[in-house]
Amino acid sequence: MRKTLYLKFILAYILFAFFGFFTVATFVSRLTYEYCLRNTSRDMYREASRIADTYAVDLYNSEISLDTVQKQMESLSYFMDTEIWIINPSGRMVVNSASAPDPEQEIVVEGFDPTVTQKNYYTRGTFFDSFEEEKLSVIAPIINNYKTRGYVIIHKSAAQIDEDANSMLNISYLMLIVILFLSLIILIFFTEVVYRPLRRIIAATEQYASGNMHYELNVEGEDEMGYLAASLGYMARTMATFEDDQKKFIANVSHDFRSPLTSIRGFLEAMLDGTIPPEMHEHYLGVVLNETERLTKLTNSLLTLNNLNTRGMILQMTDWNINDVIRKVAASFEQVCRGKNIRIHLILSGEILYVQADMDKIQQVLYNLVDNAIKFSSSNSEIEIETTEKGGKVFVSVKDSGIGIPKEDQNQIWERFYKSDLSRGKDKKGTGLGLSIVREIIRAHGENISLVSTQGVGSKFTFTLRRSDRNDELDDDDL
Ligand code: ADP
Repeated sequence: MRKTLYLKFILAYILFAFFGFFTVATFVSRLTYEYCLRNTSRDMYREASRIADTYAVDLYNSEISLDTVQKQMESLSYFMDTEIWIINPSGRMVVNSASAPDPEQEIVVEGFDPTVTQKNYYTRGTFFDSFEEEKLSVIAPIINNYKTRGYVIIHKSAAQIDEDANSMLNISYLMLIVILFLSLIILIFFTEVVYRPLRRIIAATEQYASGNMHYELNVEGEDEMGYLAASLGYMARTMATFEDDQKKFIANVSHDFRSPLTSIRGFLEAMLDGTIPPEMHEHYLGVVLNETERLTKLTNSLLTLNNLNTRGMILQMTDWNINDVIRKVAASFEQVCRGKNIRIHLILSGEILYVQADMDKIQQVLYNLVDNAIKFSSSNSEIEIETTEKGGKVFVSVKDSGIGIPKEDQNQIWERFYKSDLSRGKDKKGTGLGLSIVREIIRAHGENISLVSTQGVGSKFTFTLRRSDRNDELDDDDL
């Protein structure tokens, strides 16, 4: 395709040049010749008529001598580069600018017929065999007292007219060459501006198609080509990032699946070959169970994330009481909290606070945040869950006095599989997916989540939700 496009341009140019020359050589040359012939013959006829009305009439009226007329015609014909005759209706030569007729020797144009020009001013040929070469001849009648007394005939060499036409035609050829040259400039310009960038874009698309998304596409300019190249480059970069993320994601998933599987296998083999004595089996089966729990959790989180992403997250928006849901979530952690002696303190704005959101998904957010808060808190500490209202929004925060998150990690914790170094020791079951799920859900609601954390002091996650109008109805009822 690439080659043919360029060839098509060249072919179009060659055709253009060929038809240009063809047109000039045929139509234009004919038109030019006809134009020259018409113009010259008209001028000659005008001159012949003038002579007929002046010198010739005077000659026939004997007001001027034959000799004078002969001399006048000689100088006139020299000046006009023509041959001028004055002849009688019978064809007898009276005046000839080429050589004065001898009175002794009569010269007669045999077969002379003044109607030879027919509808034109002129006739082309040897003029009744009077010349060897072709002539263009015009005939003007000499009329005196309503009678045709003779004719003024002017001859001009036909070769001379052809020559004039050819020089005019040369100008047309020259113009054509100039036009061809200018269009060649346009072709070169077009090649530079469109064809070369297009080729580079095609080369880039071939690279992208073969999977090399890191290929650099260099097409500058603010025209359509530049815009196309920039869009294509942007697309490739996005895909490259996407591809890198994908690879990273798979590497992380594989790693997170492999380590519990390796340890499960290790323990089971040890039990089978007797390395672990039967009395210790119960303890190690507990460890194995723990590992399978971790795998289940990981699989569930992955499924949740996948559903959130692929379905573009369909939210079931309803009005519900966030304070009530917070109480339920806190209650579900009672057992775990008791084990670590952690107290969950609820600072809720009243009994009822309606929000408009997807209840199941927000419940999952709360669950993940409280789960993290407990995991990263030390024993005998307190966790605060607070709700406040402000400007049509409901702010929900989960605050702990745990290990905190280092500043440099605070942007990364939202990424899939990210676990800070600090947490690794504390939370062996963590998947690093909890906060990604939280962020996806909050984003899908068009809301925000923020984090304030100090290492060694604690963390506070706060997210917003839309306050429901049902709260206003409540107030009215209360009134
Ligand atoms: P995980 O399942 O590992 O907890 P998350 O995505 O929920 O995954 O959290 C990612 C990382 O963010 C955790 O490994 C931990 O390092 C950090 N983190 C999350 N919440 C807290 C918190 N309340 N206190 C301290 N660190 C936290």
